[in-house]
Amino acid sequence: MKAAIYPGSFDPVTYGHIDIIRRAAEMFDVLIVSVLDNKAKTPLFSVDERVNMLKDVTREIPNVEVDSFSGLLVDYAKEKGIHVAIRGLRAVTDFEYELQIAQTNRLLSQGQLDSIFLTTSLEYAYLSSSSVREIASFGGDVSMCVPPVIEAMMHEKFKDKYRTQD
Ligand code: ADP
Repeated sequence: MKAAIYPGSFDPVTYGHIDIIRRAAEMFDVLIVSVLDNKAKTPLFSVDERVNMLKDVTREIPNVEVDSFSGLLVDYAKEKGIHVAIRGLRAVTDFEYELQIAQTNRLLSQGQLDSIFLTTSLEYAYLSSSSVREIASFGGDVSMCVPPVIEAMMHEKFKDKYRTQD
């Protein structure tokens, strides 16, 4: 069985991520999309919320599993017995950062974890979770960026935020 992990923050999952998930799922028997529980960041959505969002939007892709992990990707991959990490590249600016992570992961895993990069489909090249969060925080329209279910959850989340600030 050929398996790969697609790790990320997915805060929230966008059409850009979904495009990478669909394409990677066609290349592997199993694709595990895994939410990184990064204690150093304060996410908009909890890990559980992000896992549930991903499950929702990947429901129709049978060979996709959704999971979460904390700590090093190399340790998680070893535990799962997986040797490939998928990452998406949008622009040159992603490249430098991604190259550094990929080389570090190869080193740390003693060559056991390789990275495969999929270039973004052009229509999603501008999309990032952070810009989606910013637009939604001002009540803007994010319907071109995320599926309707995620859009609804974002508006709900920001409504809660405003309410707690009152
Ligand atoms: P991270 O915090 O690990 O960068 P993200 O959720 O922002 O997590 O992104 C996960 C992966 O998906 C990264 O490899 C990122 O480059 C890629 N990605 C994010 N947005 C897009 C997009 N619009 N098109 C293609 N790849 C993307």
